[in-house]
Amino acid sequence: MPALLRRCLIYGVAALLALAGSSSRAGDRSDKVTLADALKKPYSDLFELAEQPQYSKAELNAVRGALTRGRELCVKQFKQKASEYEKEIERLQKQLKDQASRITAAERRDLHCRIQNLRALQAQAEMLAKHAIPIAYENRQAKLDLIEQWPVKFKEITAQLETGIYHGRRWGDVEDIGFREIEKDQHKDIKTGQDAIREMKSSGLMPREIENRLIIDYVNRVARTVSSHSDLKVPLKVTVLDSKEINAFALPGGFLFIERGLLEAVDDEAELAGVIGHELSHVVARHGHKLMTKAQIASFLLQAGQIAAVLFTGGATSFGAYALQYGFYGLGFVLDLNLLGVSRDFELQADQLGVQYTWASGYDPSGFIRFFDKMATTKGFVEGAAWFHDHPPFFDRMVEAEREITFLPRKPRAVVQTSEFEEMKRSLAELSANAAEDEKDKPSLKRPALDCPAPPVDAGSGQAIEAICSQGTQARGGW
Ligand SMILES: [Zn+2]
Repeated sequence: MPALLRRCLIYGVAALLALAGSSSRAGDRSDKVTLADALKKPYSDLFELAEQPQYSKAELNAVRGALTRGRELCVKQFKQKASEYEKEIERLQKQLKDQASRITAAERRDLHCRIQNLRALQAQAEMLAKHAIPIAYENRQAKLDLIEQWPVKFKEITAQLETGIYHGRRWGDVEDIGFREIEKDQHKDIKTGQDAIREMKSSGLMPREIENRLIIDYVNRVARTVSSHSDLKVPLKVTVLDSKEINAFALPGGFLFIERGLLEAVDDEAELAGVIGHELSHVVARHGHKLMTKAQIASFLLQAGQIAAVLFTGGATSFGAYALQYGFYGLGFVLDLNLLGVSRDFELQADQLGVQYTWASGYDPSGFIRFFDKMATTKGFVEGAAWFHDHPPFFDRMVEAEREITFLPRKPRAVVQTSEFEEMKRSLAELSANAAEDEKDKPSLKRPALDCPAPPVDAGSGQAIEAICSQGTQARGGW
């Protein structure tokens, strides 16, 4: 990377460190957390920390500016890497062409492998620049907004509670879950879901199912607990897919899919229940049906077939296809978001209903917030990027989810963790280890065209944004 960019990064970090230091000295309370440290706290801590305003406008603005600059620099850095890989690919392709008649078969194969690996690296850098880094920065930004605005929101929510006005909110009749009508005719979506599944299976896009009985039974048990305390009126069908993508989705008509990567990423049963509650809510509110006409559904099914054709003939040309091919994206990026009912408005609705169903099932409803935060901070913002597709602003999602949790009557002994969850994790660890061994030479939905050594596709996995953005630079602990 150019020296100028490196200096900018270091400057950005130094400015922030200075700022963090001054805020702790200037604080009127000796135990005051610096703003830089506060931004690294989970949402649940911030909801408590920020009930009173603690930071000056100048402090907040300085950090906001640093975040904006950090995001720009980091995105630029990975865009630049992607274009360097592209140039290198072009250079090797030219070499192939120029020396076509002179090189040995082994040299040709070596060049092919180098090109293939560079394509993987290019797709990875573009994915980071386009999706993962913006997601992680947006999450930080949302925390900054929360620190600034939560004191006012908190007063507003407290007033809504005290006056009892909260009973009149949309879907405020939580004591009648299961007996109220969120949306008529859920059963009319069953055929749509079945068609989509058939199409995905026949085009080879659906990962294989997990066969481990203990894991299947466990996921079914949690999903059934949540669905029996929800407004779902169609039979629930649960499928656990053997894919490392951190994702879960529900197709219209009650078909819930949980991917192995999601089971690896959740840390307790309340988090898993929170995700399931959210997905089932899209089915309950018939979001897919509202977003898609019959003609659009048909065109999605056709498109799935086309994506498969591109992937399985090795004819991948676009960045998206490479990303799929090398396993950075999974089904989450193949599936039409409209079919899943994902839109900015509908996400907030699914968050609200999901929190209600998790609560009604006896789980700690804040599991959803904890999982969301973790996904956007470390574990998921790379492998789980599909989860954040077309999302409403994180700030709105977190405030609205917390508002709903505050309005729900307290339940004693809300479940966070169970011994069955831990047992499932033990089985999963064995399964994941075997899968990792299997995936070594085929890191994707589709094996790359050549039998080359696997490209280094895991950069960024499980790392915090600071570590990713400082890769290849001298800056450490920056933004
Ligand atoms: Zn959703």
